[in-house]
Amino acid sequence: MELIHQGKVRDVYADGPDLILVASNRVSVFDVILPTEIPGKGALLTALSLWWFERLADIVPNHVVSAEDVPAEFAGRAVRVKRLDMVKVEAVVRGYLTGSGLADYRETGAVCGIALPAGLEDGSRLPEPIFTPTTKADVGEHDEPETFEQTAARLGPDLAGRVRDLTLEVYRRGSEIALAKGIIIADTKLEFGLDEDGVLTLADEVLTSDSSRFWDAAAWKPGRTQPSFDKQFVRDWAISTGWRPDDPEAPEIPEHIVEATRDRYIEAYELLTGRRWS
Ligand code: ATP
Ligand code: MG
Repeated sequence: MELIHQGKVRDVYADGPDLILVASNRVSVFDVILPTEIPGKGALLTALSLWWFERLADIVPNHVVSAEDVPAEFAGRAVRVKRLDMVKVEAVVRGYLTGSGLADYRETGAVCGIALPAGLEDGSRLPEPIFTPTTKADVGEHDEPETFEQTAARLGPDLAGRVRDLTLEVYRRGSEIALAKGIIIADTKLEFGLDEDGVLTLADEVLTSDSSRFWDAAAWKPGRTQPSFDKQFVRDWAISTGWRPDDPEAPEIPEHIVEATRDRYIEAYELLTGRRWS
């Protein structure tokens, strides 16, 4: 198999008409890959994505061909998928305000051009979920937020509108399922592609602790950082060391942070799926 792309987290191989997406144990924060891996992370995220794809299949077709028909050396952390013509947008949806959305709101009163009511805080629930797309940057570049009009100008209004509507629908379904299990999906990022018949198809990973913010619903309280089951923990730790994303040399993650991060990924998996991780 030919390695055609090495992303921050996944290695992508071509196998005939399919791709084999192999999730590594790498972790990236602010688009920088840290030098320490989180054992089991690739398998956890792969299993969680597969679980979600099934639960979303009546809303949107997905790229999964098989989780079994993959090379033995990658078993458990690889998926055979349809190779798609990827839509050049990171389809971000937010139900709650935090992170870069909060920063944008504090500066402009809006997120990606969508005006929001005054007085929202870190962790506030939005009146309704909003689509806040970004560009899909090339390797080494950062994704830039854009207004829906900018996305529509790049992709065409029809495709952009379909991506937005499906993204909101996936978020609504996903957040309802998660909330019933005690997890708030504050925001998430989806990727779509077009198959050979031009059908808009959900790709990449979906509603994982890498692509989403998962908060503990019982502990949710706007006005502070929310307890989370995602890589926010690693982001916060990295920043606490004094490291900044433009420093080329990222710090090694100490053992107890690796463990605590792994525990959070496992907890999210177990809470959502109701399955034991072994
Ligand atoms: P980037 O997306 O900028 O290349 P990344 O670090 O996010 O970098 P990874 O998520 O590690 O990349 O790798 C997965 C790559 O595979 C992404 O580029 C994603 O867009 C692409 N991809 C996912 N599913 C498909 C698919 N079905 N067909 C084609 N490409 C896909
Ligand atoms: Mg990615």
